[in-house]
Amino acid sequence: NSEEPWRPFNRSRVYMADLESALHYSLRVEVAAHTVVKGEALISLKKYVAVLAKYFPGRPVVRNLLKSVDSWLQNQTRDEISYEAFKDILDNSAQSPDAALPEGVRWVGCQGSQPHLRRYPCGVWTLFHVLTVQAKNTRGTDPKEVLMAMRNYVHSFFGCRSCAEHFENMAMESLMEVDTFSSAVLWLWSRHNLVNNRLAGALSEDPNFPKIQWPSPEMCPACHAVKANGDHSWIQKEVLPFVLSYFSSSSILTGAHR
Ligand code: FAD
Repeated sequence: NSEEPWRPFNRSRVYMADLESALHYSLRVEVAAHTVVKGEALISLKKYVAVLAKYFPGRPVVRNLLKSVDSWLQNQTRDEISYEAFKDILDNSAQSPDAALPEGVRWVGCQGSQPHLRRYPCGVWTLFHVLTVQAKNTRGTDPKEVLMAMRNYVHSFFGCRSCAEHFENMAMESLMEVDTFSSAVLWLWSRHNLVNNRLAGALSEDPNFPKIQWPSPEMCPACHAVKANGDHSWIQKEVLPFVLSYFSSSSILTGAHR
């Protein structure tokens, strides 16, 4: 994979190839680390897949696959499942021609200048933002649904354990404040910026993709203001429509998948 040629891309767009790659990696690699999924992890997996089935704004074949995985999982009444059984459903063992989860990764907007940089964690953030925006646009019923599903998925499965711990601490601190779909979108945006701030200059930073407080003034001039004392401040009523439009299903570029 590290041998793959660099694909030029637009740095201010979201690519379906990254979202599908994140799905592949999460369901076929990260979850596969558990030979048996049970208890709390099984509840997390069910909620995560339910949210994906509801809100993943993908191609019809991919959405059909997610829906079939979701209904299979919801029908499992025992307290544990084997990853093998789950994998059969993911690989569409019933061979329905209109349902598939592409195999392998193909990073585009999440390409890193080194194999260990960006990629999956970048895909996860992108997927999470897209899902909070989709929940708002499709008027889900519970404003915390997507964030709780993400929180529990990360807690049970995310391979970077220190990341999972940091994320859980942020969720414990302030997730209860989320009470609308807009505040869910903004919660994830502001927590992501806290992480960017903490990681700026760290070894995990790709020198070609420095951690910034996002969106930059170039991307969204109206999002930024300077207070009387010279401090920076965000104009949230500008940030919200910017984030909604940036991650909306109609802005996702689909050209670059396999
Ligand atoms: P990422 O931070 O992955 O962001 C991906 C893309 O999202 C960016 O390219 C940009 O287009 C957009 N974006 C950036 N900021 C925002 C924002 N505020 N709102 C909306 N969109 C934005 N790494 C660690 O070393 N330590 C940790 O504790 C840690 N915790 C993590 C927790 C979670 C839940 C996740 C998913 C990842 C975590 N990581 C952590 C990984 C780290 O945050 C980055 O994902 C990784 O370093 C790759 O960075 P990146 O440059 O691709 O940009």
